[in-house]
Amino acid sequence: MMTKRPPTALEKMGLNSPMALALHLPSRYEDETELFTIEEALGLGRFQSIQTQGVVIRNQVMFRPRRQLLVTIEDDTATLQLRFLNFYPSQQKQMAIGNHVRVRGEVRDGYLGAEMVHPIVRAVTPDAPLPASLTPVYPASAGISQAIIRKAVIQALRDASLKESLAEFLPTQLMDQILPSNDWPPLQEAISYLHQPPADANTQSLLERTHPAWRRVQFEELLAQQISLKRAHAIRRQRRAPSFKKSSSTNKSSPSIEEGLLNVLPFQLTGAQARVWLEICGDLENTFPMNRLLQGDVGSGKTVIAALAAARAMDYGYQAAIMAPTEILAEQHYLKMQEWFEPLGVRIAWLSGSLKAKEKRLAQEMIESGEAQLILGTHALIQDKVSFSKLGLAVIDEQHRFGVRQRLEIQQRVGSELFYCHQLMMSATPIPRTLAMTYYADLDVSVIDELPPGRKPITTKVVKATRRDEVIAGLQAWLAKGLQAYWVCPLIEESEALQLQTAVESFEQLTQALPEFKVGLVHGRLKSDEKAAVMAAFKANEIQLLVATTVIEVGVDVPNAALMVIEHAERFGYAQIHQLRGRVGRGSADSVCILMYAEPLSLAAKERLQTLRETSDGFVIAERDLSLRGPGELLGAKQSGDAMLRFVDLQRDAWLIELAQVAAERLLAEHADLVERHLERWLGSRTEFLKA
Ligand code: ADP
Ligand code: MG
Repeated sequence: MMTKRPPTALEKMGLNSPMALALHLPSRYEDETELFTIEEALGLGRFQSIQTQGVVIRNQVMFRPRRQLLVTIEDDTATLQLRFLNFYPSQQKQMAIGNHVRVRGEVRDGYLGAEMVHPIVRAVTPDAPLPASLTPVYPASAGISQAIIRKAVIQALRDASLKESLAEFLPTQLMDQILPSNDWPPLQEAISYLHQPPADANTQSLLERTHPAWRRVQFEELLAQQISLKRAHAIRRQRRAPSFKKSSSTNKSSPSIEEGLLNVLPFQLTGAQARVWLEICGDLENTFPMNRLLQGDVGSGKTVIAALAAARAMDYGYQAAIMAPTEILAEQHYLKMQEWFEPLGVRIAWLSGSLKAKEKRLAQEMIESGEAQLILGTHALIQDKVSFSKLGLAVIDEQHRFGVRQRLEIQQRVGSELFYCHQLMMSATPIPRTLAMTYYADLDVSVIDELPPGRKPITTKVVKATRRDEVIAGLQAWLAKGLQAYWVCPLIEESEALQLQTAVESFEQLTQALPEFKVGLVHGRLKSDEKAAVMAAFKANEIQLLVATTVIEVGVDVPNAALMVIEHAERFGYAQIHQLRGRVGRGSADSVCILMYAEPLSLAAKERLQTLRETSDGFVIAERDLSLRGPGELLGAKQSGDAMLRFVDLQRDAWLIELAQVAAERLLAEHADLVERHLERWLGSRTEFLKA
């Protein structure tokens, strides 16, 4: 029997097979192939990290100005001082007087003369050979050393199975015809080269990833991506989905739900909303499933588009479901849909994790029997024993909070073997189209690039926490005008309990400071009906000031609340503040967002607050965020694996895309047998993206 053991650090990084290790390519290299005399090192080492060696002639722990280890080494040409501010007893022993060591580092002027601070030290014999290849430096997660990865990679490269996994199977003739000059090394050679470049390799092109060995790898990866795009595109078009054409409404006596909705809406669609609605209508008319991402900044009015699409599905006798990532947001949608649809006689079901068992069962029955036409809920829609009777449309709000797997889940519950449901994903996070394409194999994108009329821009102020009293005084004046406000408490990632505690403290302080107003408190530990009660009271203006944790981050909509104070704003990321701030500026009052911060402020936090003060353009903010966090996190793709492209930079390598496109077409047409093999090699488990 196999015993279960915890995964090793390597396995946690996904490095669990020779192939995975072979494709774990270095991010840079260190040159340990050259050795200089100490005299040479004293000169050259001022500009770069340099390697030299010698025998230890002094080894001394000093206590002034603080505890440190000073070591001196010597060769025939000169002496060099090494300084270590943190050190282990083992290092002290390694550099015992008389031992021979090889060291690498930069040389600078210390106050006892030229020295290396914290060089890399290795004990060697005086004539120890130099490595023949550059030393790779691998991407690593915390707690795993380069030495462990290097060893594992070297072992993997020797594994017999690699011969098969990296075998050359792209037809030479095809490659010769497509590539301008087919001078790239074969795949296996390219991979070995990148792990162990010879001492004379062109390090510049290795670093910039323009070396022929890189090109070979990049081309193959792009080829897999292009094939998968084309395949996913074709597969979706072969699937069946119910076609929802616009009803001609000949029957005047009973208008459609869609018309009814348009009649009860208290506003006209903006130009941008009308345009994206047309795009979605086009998708819904098709006999294959829609797979569309609707992007629009916070407050741009995505909800009504979801409602229109739902109405269209319901007019055809199909169910529609709207799924949101948090209870609060799902409830908001539920209330909104009740307001819009109940007058039209639509039966709505509500399903969330916090429902009592009996309520849950009732909701599930309504969904399964088809009695419920419109279904609102959280992850509960795909977690419990939910199966739809006839699901025609699934809307997934704030889609980046869900993983690919969860979107596949809903597809498996539509209640029919014969058809797929249309899917509409919504997000306030702008994603450049090229990026979206590399994450989702086959996705159409619509953008609402206009806010509803009458919105006043939000004024953002950055204020030191020491001016808290002034902020509270301003808050009082604000509430006295009959307006409402949010007070958002800091995010404490380490401890939910601590986060709750600070929220309660602020709540108590504000209740005391503002006796003439009703202050409410909402946080993640409240039961769902308690939360709903507080939110309803806030919406009805029975509560004027709502103290909240980040549970209100997404989607909450109370137009009369136009002031938001965020405590410890320095602890929040770009996207979070942008989302939070989007809760205000929804009504006709001038809106204000106050970012309170506590010193000391890191440079990054300072820049973040400044940017947030200067702009409320979601696109600008997303770009800053992207450069900081990387696309995976932004897109919610992280939990489902990496992006499809690991080695290609779409900007730098744009010209390769065209070549890969041609190659993909020809491979699909002429060598269908090789396609599977190629996809498996490059995407492996990530082929799941193709289905989403
Ligand atoms: P988001 O895109 O952030 O989900 P919502 O759908 O919640 O935005 O819309 C924000 C607010 O704007 C809501 O109060 C909504 O009723 C209102 N709204 C949406 N569309 C329009 C419109 N065309 N004209 C006026 N108000 C609108
Ligand atoms: Mg929304």
